[in-house]
Amino acid sequence: MQRIGFDEALALYEEDLFELGGTADSIRREMHGKKTYFNINRHINPTNICKDVCKFCAYSASRKNPNPYAMSHEEILSIVDDIVSRDIKEVHIVSAHNPETGLQWYLDIFRKIKEKYPQLHVKALTAAEVNFLAEEYGKSYDEILDLMVENGVDSMPGGGAEIFDEKVRDYICKGKVSSEQWLQIHRKWHERGKKSNVTMLFGHVEERRHRIDHMMRIRDLQDETGGFNCFIPLVYQPENNFLNIREFITANEILKTMALSRIVLDNVPNLKAYWVTSTVNLALVAQEFGANDLDGTIEKESINSAAGAKSANGVDLEEFVHLIRESGFVPVERDSLYNELKVW
Ligand code: SF4
Repeated sequence: MQRIGFDEALALYEEDLFELGGTADSIRREMHGKKTYFNINRHINPTNICKDVCKFCAYSASRKNPNPYAMSHEEILSIVDDIVSRDIKEVHIVSAHNPETGLQWYLDIFRKIKEKYPQLHVKALTAAEVNFLAEEYGKSYDEILDLMVENGVDSMPGGGAEIFDEKVRDYICKGKVSSEQWLQIHRKWHERGKKSNVTMLFGHVEERRHRIDHMMRIRDLQDETGGFNCFIPLVYQPENNFLNIREFITANEILKTMALSRIVLDNVPNLKAYWVTSTVNLALVAQEFGANDLDGTIEKESINSAAGAKSANGVDLEEFVHLIRESGFVPVERDSLYNELKVW
């Protein structure tokens, strides 16, 4: 299939949902057959105290969520002890931008985890956090990224990308890492031979053209570096934030956006239906609209559940696998870098 341009991609939104889904599904099947990947991971969100005020955010301690917390190293290590004892292979550490939780605090906890459990994959710090730490401590991105590598971070999550369009970004998360900076941080991370993911927050004030623009910028960087493992469209969660969106995105629009992601991002190998923000049911349907990854069992998620997602305690593994199988796909447990571990 020929690479698709901006106008053509935008026009595809007008196509019938099932036709679009069929195209995305044939690409997905060519790339991954009937395999649906997942991993068994644990999210840790060490603090919700944030110097930024993104309008869509329900996680940070604010007037709508007056419940600030910051975890200690001991608390985090005891969670890690527990998950390793249950053979969980990845810890996913992302947080708010808390000036009290210093750079050294992060580096020390990464190092402690890695020294104790060298086999555990540490996925940590979004590009937004890297930018925050660089600004706060007067360091360059290169310096921060080198320190992350030295202290045991294996890969970077894709958070903080939101929507790259500058106007929309300015409206929903003014002051946070810019689009150019976000992409630059991932470029530099990839130049170190490391992998990362990339997200897109949609279903708020953005328009279809902004989503396509977002995908195009990802595709361009991926052409340069090849460092993105996975694209993760995140459905905006409406509760407890300051955006006051009255009209919620429809399932039809979510599925079209999934399908278009698969069609546009011809150089990003995996497309994740992140059930935390879309519901498990819609994520299962999204398998027929291009998605080949359903993330994982998650276990304890604070960021989206604060905004109304029904994800706080993850999902049972047996049930998860059963659902994938019952929907006609083959559940394949993967590691954080998409090596296959077990066909369930
Ligand atoms: S999205 Fe992140 S940076 Fe923005 S207010 Fe929330 S925690 Fe802070």
